Amino acid sequence: MKKFDLIDDFLKFIDKSPVSYQAVDNLSQKLIDSGFEKLDKGEKWNLRHSGKYFIINNDSSIIAFRIGKINSDFKFHIIGSHSDSPGFRVKPKSIMEVDRNYIKLNTEVYGGPILSTWFDRPLSLAGRVLIKGDQKPITRLINIDRDLLIIPNLAIHMNREVNNGYTFNAQKDTLPLLSLMQEEADENFLHRLISEEIKIDQDQILDFDLYLYVREKASILGYNSEFISAGRLDNLAMAHSSINALIDSGESESTNIVIVTDNEEVGSMSRQGADSPMIRDTLERISICINGEREDFYRAISKSFMISADMAHALHPNYAEKADPTNYPIINKGPVIKLAASKAYTSDGYSSAVYKQLCDNAGVPCQEFTNRSDLRGGSTIGPITSKHLDIAAVDIGNPMLAMHSVRELGGVDDHYYIYKSFIEFFK
Ligand code: ZN
Repeated sequence: MKKFDLIDDFLKFIDKSPVSYQAVDNLSQKLIDSGFEKLDKGEKWNLRHSGKYFIINNDSSIIAFRIGKINSDFKFHIIGSHSDSPGFRVKPKSIMEVDRNYIKLNTEVYGGPILSTWFDRPLSLAGRVLIKGDQKPITRLINIDRDLLIIPNLAIHMNREVNNGYTFNAQKDTLPLLSLMQEEADENFLHRLISEEIKIDQDQILDFDLYLYVREKASILGYNSEFISAGRLDNLAMAHSSINALIDSGESESTNIVIVTDNEEVGSMSRQGADSPMIRDTLERISICINGEREDFYRAISKSFMISADMAHALHPNYAEKADPTNYPIINKGPVIKLAASKAYTSDGYSSAVYKQLCDNAGVPCQEFTNRSDLRGGSTIGPITSKHLDIAAVDIGNPMLAMHSVRELGGVDDHYYIYKSFIEFFK
């Protein structure tokens, strides 16, 4: 894809992917449009060389793959990222009345959002609804596509300390306002709203997984239009660039895999998270389908390589002192290799060298990140995947600011650079 087509496609993808369910649905639609076949985990797989396939796990994680050419040396080239972002999850009995004047929703925090960034912005709800089926529940995705909710700030006159650092309470300060009180405002109010939205009888709704999202659209900004300002850059940027690289890279000697897992922001310990048998089982199953023997799987693993792709911290213009004195990424100067002595990242000298070589071959600049020695920093799916797979791996990502704000800031050039490095990897 050309640079500006890729960026345009990315902004549209973010806008129509408010939570992990929609992100995975949009990725799967793109794969189907590009000739990938959706596999059912409960059916027998008949895979062939150069074939293109994908599976979805519990509606919110996806593994897409293109089998290597016939007679090629069987091995995996894997890029992993995540579909979820920090925010708020709606609780089951969520309707709360305030002195018979307001209706608000009871929510809990998902992952580690910067709470203050969620205030005073138009919000809505998205996720999935489970409705009655013949034998088992049927999933319907839902995105209430209108400005519906808001978390209003308290006036500064009533909280003079707000600009001096304020501790937010997630059971009090961040509950979103839904409506003024009205006649029909009983505990089924939200179910009625959902039933109207997906046009189904209210008594057909069994359950839901619903999250808040911010309505403001992604945009390009800066004097030279060099920045991407959007929600969920962490980590839809990596999901988008890796899936597009898989689609655009064509046939290869290696079996190329893109994994987008859910629940990274809460530790990955779910069936659809990276800390599950999902990835290993799928790789083993592909190998057995193609080669027939378990031994071939272990041989393939020993020759394979994984790129764990998650966003990285750029040098902040107002907080330069928070960056490492010598390893500080700059926006639009290329993908970032993340290193930590604690092994919070998988990268080591060998795997970093492999990625540097890839960038060099692709004509793309690349940078390195370490935490300041007196800061702990974050982690990602790379080390978690290493618990399950004996594969050489590197942790990389694009430099960005305001990570876990409801609106983050990244670079236009970087999104194209990393896509080119992924194409090179899959070639
Ligand atoms: Zn992330």
